[in-house]
Amino acid sequence: MIEVLSSLGCRVLKDEPLSMHCSFKIGGPADFFIEIPNELALSEFLRIISDGRFCILGGGTNILFSDEGYRGTIVRLTGCFKEISVSGDEILCGGGALLSDVLKTACENGLTGLECTAGILGTVGGAVYGNVGRGDKWISAVIKSVEVYKNLKKELINREKAIFGYRKSGFENSIILKVVFSLKKDMKNDSLKEISKNMQKRLETQPLNIPNAGSIFKNPDGFSVGKLIEEAGLKGIYAGKAQISELHGNFIVNTGGAFAEDVLALINLIKEKVKEKFGISLETEIKIIK
Ligand SMILES: Cc1cc2nc3c(=O)[nH]c(=O)nc-3n(C[C@H](O)[C@H](O)[C@H](O)COP(=O)(O)OP(=O)(O)OC[C@H]3O[C@@H](n4cnc5c(N)ncnc54)[C@H](O)[C@@H]3O)c2cc1C
Repeated sequence: MIEVLSSLGCRVLKDEPLSMHCSFKIGGPADFFIEIPNELALSEFLRIISDGRFCILGGGTNILFSDEGYRGTIVRLTGCFKEISVSGDEILCGGGALLSDVLKTACENGLTGLECTAGILGTVGGAVYGNVGRGDKWISAVIKSVEVYKNLKKELINREKAIFGYRKSGFENSIILKVVFSLKKDMKNDSLKEISKNMQKRLETQPLNIPNAGSIFKNPDGFSVGKLIEEAGLKGIYAGKAQISELHGNFIVNTGGAFAEDVLALINLIKEKVKEKFGISLETEIKIIK
């Protein structure tokens, strides 16, 4: 596998520490870590790996890897998959493109619609997979189509056929290759104000200077999970070197050298206490990869 994929321009690493590839800075080694630069190499990889275990990684900003690492191959889309282009009021980009670069391109071209993604880290693939957003504004509102690999076949899925919901997209078993965003060409000062307001709010309410993976839990219907955690008196609690953020209850931070086990202990504690106090069952938003 290594020779064939390397000859197609892939970067293949063995026993790569996953802590280097996620915003939590936690995780043991993956058997293989492959950066795939184009569709030819990707289809060859999928052919070779047909019976093997693999996982697509974007920016690693919504993921918790296990301390034992990953028995299989972690795949990251690079090269052509990071390209972004503009055609009229549409932006076409690869699944590996950075979401922040797409928003920047939108601003530079006076295109509005992606303001709710301001300050969200990671790639377009990860963002579409998780239907990211802020409040009741989600990225799916401006998606025109998504090109995916599913069951070894390429498919173009128009927005009407996709199953978007709160932090879900229906692309769980797909590889997101390309996305077309349909925007509006009337960016006004209001859009720029919304972007800077979003960024400012993050600086004030999120522990951006300590490794974390964003919101740990989804908000249950009608509740802010951060407030529930705060009201349950859990903010600031430690397990090993992992801590429930003092700033935002729905964030767990790695204060230096935390293990996945520590984070999982806090996740279980929060679930238990919130259920006990409010009768609400929490569902994790971060992906736990074992
Ligand atoms: C400080 C901070 C603030 C955040 N704020 C927000 C916020 O306001 N709103 C919000 O919604 N999220 C937020 N997040 C979470 C996170 O940034 C988003 O979920 C982001 O879109 C994840 O993208 P990623 O590329 O890092 O995905 P990863 O974390 O790498 O992966 C997440 C999931 O997407 C899958 N995936 C990634 N790429 C592909 C692909 N090409 N094809 C198929 N599947 C793929 C992975 O397999 C995995 O299951 C925040 C995170 C941090 C650290």
